[in-house]
Amino acid sequence: MKKTDIEKECPLCHKKENQVKMGHNRSGTQRCMCKECGISYTIDPKKHEYSEETRQQAIKMHKEGISGREIGRILGINKANVYNWIKKYTAHEKSRH
Ligand SMILES: [Zn+2]
Repeated sequence: MKKTDIEKECPLCHKKENQVKMGHNRSGTQRCMCKECGISYTIDPKKHEYSEETRQQAIKMHKEGISGREIGRILGINKANVYNWIKKYTAHEKSRH
């Protein structure tokens, strides 16, 4: 029996054929390319537990001086997640200078 692979589907043309693996990005996400339309995209095997809205809210609270632990408690999310977002946000901010 073949090992179960992540089903690859182009987010643009939604074809499942001619999807080639391109390795992984820094966070370990599988990168793929669609030979049909030529775009590259990533497959995240992890389910997105929190919405972009929640993330933005957490960043906003961080900017207001609320600690990661508090943000996690208020928004009801894992504080490790909050720290992760803050870290990414801070790195992004630094790269602009
Ligand atoms: Zn495509």
